[in-house]
Order: sequence, then structure tokens, then C-alpha cells
Amino acid sequence: MSTSAWEENVPEPRANAGRILALMMQKRAFSVSFSTVALVMSGIVCCAALPPSARAWGNEGHRLVNKLAASSLPADVPGFLRTQAAIDEIEYLGPEPDRWRSPAEPELAAAQAPEHFIDLELADALGPLPHKRFDFLAEVYAAHQDPTKIGLQPWQTDEVWERLKAAMRQYRDLRAEGKDTAPVEQAIIFYAAWLGHYVADGSQPLHVTVKYNGWVGPNPNGYTTAHTIHYQFESPFVAANIHAADVAAKMTPVKLIEGDMFDAYVAYLRHTATYVEKVYQLEKVGGFVGAGTPESRAFTAERLAAGASMLRDMIYTAWIDSAQPVPDAYAGK
Ligand SMILES: [Zn+2]
Ligand SMILES: [Zn+2]
Repeated sequence: MSTSAWEENVPEPRANAGRILALMMQKRAFSVSFSTVALVMSGIVCCAALPPSARAWGNEGHRLVNKLAASSLPADVPGFLRTQAAIDEIEYLGPEPDRWRSPAEPELAAAQAPEHFIDLELADALGPLPHKRFDFLAEVYAAHQDPTKIGLQPWQTDEVWERLKAAMRQYRDLRAEGKDTAPVEQAIIFYAAWLGHYVADGSQPLHVTVKYNGWVGPNPNGYTTAHTIHYQFESPFVAANIHAADVAAKMTPVKLIEGDMFDAYVAYLRHTATYVEKVYQLEKVGGFVGAGTPESRAFTAERLAAGASMLRDMIYTAWIDSAQPVPDAYAGK
């Protein structure tokens, strides 16, 4: 996926119009006439047709994945993570890394844009994926390629997961010492929520392929090459048609992730990649226009459920793994 104009630095008139509307609704001091609301609403509808602003799963999808994961954590994670306040915070932070794409913060926007996707075809062409970010970057540069066009999804996700695990280990230590855990609880809630953004992106098939916004390469089935499918699928279609109950019903039972987390996460991305053509097939029959089709709605709910299930399992696994003794960095030296 390239970081072309649609992918970054695009102002968000839709979100802004929504905020203006929300502000107007809150300001009870002056009465909002129906015609004023209608005017703003028509602005929202109009602007939704503008070039997309790279909201993976859009605001609604990200909130949904984070909320469902947080509210389905098993009872053996600490109680502070399962309070309504924690669930609300984790839900609010679901879209947080998309709030870092603003032209108001250009350095941040540029640095973190590649962390939302990976074009697996390009990454795999360089060989097996190394576990460490800078080892991958070295391979990319050695091949005279640009990492911002290939993406850094699995490294970012694994690193945030490790931040979460480190904070949970700190929580265990502080609790064992009888010290105040309130500050580290706040950190854990933030890391879990931040992690959720990338895990959700990783369930979106168009976030793991060079075909991220229009089919490329041989096209015997005549799939769309227009640069609209990505946004259409993940934002307006989700917002209009996908409800929490539909997604919750498709979540898998909670499970502890065995073995190496980087490898498990890459396997999850590869599973997501098996659905790339399916997205194009659904688009071809009008699956992402208006209410779509029963199949496109079920498919989209299943993808969001895969993200929510994986996030829940990664948070749970971070908690369990945080009890492991820290390996001796000097062992054998
Ligand atoms: Zn996206
Ligand atoms: Zn994203």
C-alpha cells in the first residue's frame, strides 16, 4: 500500500462536519432549528463522497472491535480492565492512531502511516519476515525499496503488545509489593486500546495486500480498479450496516495464544489475506453499496469479529505471559 494522497494527509470534512453537528446538539443555550441540522447533515452526506481519509475500519469499526474485545475478556484478567470505565476508554481509543494522521502533525503522520498496513506480496518477496523492525528495514533498504510503501503492520502490533505485557508485569510487581497500582492500570488500559487499532486493521483484507484500493495485475474476472473500494468497504458500509450484536455473535471462544506472538500475529495476517479476492467479488455484485447483500454484511461482521477475538486473546495472553520470569539477558555471556 502506498502512502498516496488518499492514504494520508487528507482533511476529514466528514469527521469535522460530524463534530460540528455534535457540538451544535450539545449547545442547548441556542436552539438548533431543523433546517440548520438538515444543512449540516447534507454536508456530511456530500463530504462522505470525497476521497477517503484512510480510516481503517472507520471510526465505527475500530470502536466496535475495541469495545467487543474489552467487554469479553475472561474473568482471570484483573478487575480494573473489566470495569465499564475501562471498556469505555478502550472503545474511545480504538480510532486513536487514525487521529495521528492529521496534517497538523506532519512528522507524526508520516512516521506512523506505514504501521497500519503491510503489502504482504512485497514483504514476502524479500524473504522470511524477520521478527525485529530494524532487521526488516535493513532488508528493505538493501533491496533499494521504500518501507513506507510496503508497510510495518506486524512489527508495530508486536511491539505494542510487548509494551502491554511489560506494563502488566509492572502491575504484578507493584501489587506484590503492596504499592499503588492505579497509575500502571491507566497505562495498561491505554496500551490494550492502542494495540486494538492495529489488530483491527489486520482483520481488514485490504490492509495486507498490494490490491489495497483497486485490483492490480491480471484481472480475468474484471474486478474493480477504481480507487474507491477500500474506503467504501471499511467506512460508510460498516457505519451504515454493521451492528455490535452481529459482530459479537461471530466471535470465537477465548483462547490463550501459544508460542511466539510475532509468528502468531503474522499467521493471523496471512489468514486475513486469504479474503482479499472475496472483498472484490462482493464489491462486484454491489456488496458495499447501500445496505449491500446478506453475504457482504455477514462477511464484514465476521472480519470485525476476527479482529475483536484476536485482540481479546492477545490482551489475555499478555496478562498470562506477564507472569513469566524475565530471561537473564546475560545468560551464557
Ligand atoms: Zn483502511
Ligand atoms: Zn489504522
